[in-house]
Amino acid sequence: MRPDTLSVLRCPYCGGRLEVVTSSFHRYEGDEIVDAILGCHCCVFPVIAGIPVMHLEAAAVAARRLLEGGDAAAAFRKLLALDDEASALTFEEAARSPDATYRQLVDALGPKFEGGYFLFRFSDPTYVVADAVVRGVAAAAVGRNGRAIDVCGGSGHLTRSLLDCSTTPPIVADLSFAKLWLARRFTAPACQPVCCDGNAPLPFAQRAFDLVVCSDAFHYIWTKRLLASEMMRIAADRGAVVVTHAHNANQWNPSAGMPLPPDAYGELFAEMDPRVYSERQLLGQIVGGGPLDLSRPHDAAALAADPALTIVASRRADVFRAAPLTTPTTARGEYRINPLYAVEPDGDRATLRLRFPSEDYEEEYGAARTYLADDVVVDRRALAALPAARLSPGLADLARRRVILDLPKNYY
Ligand SMILES: [Zn+2]
Repeated sequence: MRPDTLSVLRCPYCGGRLEVVTSSFHRYEGDEIVDAILGCHCCVFPVIAGIPVMHLEAAAVAARRLLEGGDAAAAFRKLLALDDEASALTFEEAARSPDATYRQLVDALGPKFEGGYFLFRFSDPTYVVADAVVRGVAAAAVGRNGRAIDVCGGSGHLTRSLLDCSTTPPIVADLSFAKLWLARRFTAPACQPVCCDGNAPLPFAQRAFDLVVCSDAFHYIWTKRLLASEMMRIAADRGAVVVTHAHNANQWNPSAGMPLPPDAYGELFAEMDPRVYSERQLLGQIVGGGPLDLSRPHDAAALAADPALTIVASRRADVFRAAPLTTPTTARGEYRINPLYAVEPDGDRATLRLRFPSEDYEEEYGAARTYLADDVVVDRRALAALPAARLSPGLADLARRRVILDLPKNYY
């Protein structure tokens, strides 16, 4: 954990600043905290493997006690929350290998972990809209040294988009320690993970962030009034709050959570001039090549009919504009074939066939068919150039069609 992350960290209960308890076990690498105990006016919290754990659930308290006893490895294992010793050993062995992939480690975390879903995140419609909205809003609201946070950010897929927005690494906050660890190792390297509960006050200083994002998670939070208030509290006066893929209570959804109707989302963010958008309409703009137009509100009928909504709240007028979509030609990770495509070689050519991993996936993310072709025939020599750091002209079109993706290194 970087010193500037510690400087924006606050106790979620007393609001106090945190300091390393130097009389307890602690370990630094350079100026970054790896393992330590943090203290405020009321509590102590552990930092384990560089991740501050800012809640008092039983596993966190047990891990803190283990760390106070100097056993950082046992504290780490306690927070991964694996069912048994054998699973823990499998995970730790896989994690030690520098060649281990995101997919392998997700598998090692066991069937309860939502791996199949996250592996295909980078081309699903939820992500495609969230990525474009976040980049568009960040271009207006986040300066070169600004700071962004991905609240309930899981294993960091959208956090990865925030890495491009500023020279200050983004924070990803989530209750799952394992997901945060995956985010920093694979999905959004250099991000700053903070383990905390979205149903409690957020452990950050007020006005610390130029952009506060929550994607595909707000409807799973019970204390929405609190989370909305907290997201606005930690946002700068001239910052922005963005909620993408919020389920609409008036439409059926396969993994509904506890959704609200469109007006209720807007009311939660009323003090920060919110606008509510139909995700389907935003996706249509993106698939059509842009621009992404946040300047015109979507009408009530469109919002009522859409299973998912995007909320953008900001006192800055320039956030609400039509912005062109940009397509980079240099990878943050490496260009590879979208894992949704199976490769069938045929002489000098290969056919890439779209294969959804399950019926459940297809039901939830079927809108991907509006931009992912069923079959694509490509020159095998072009594929042989993958993985690649840059897109050759022959591959640029495949990247535009999301058949080739900029994926984290060692992703699958
Ligand atoms: Zn406290």
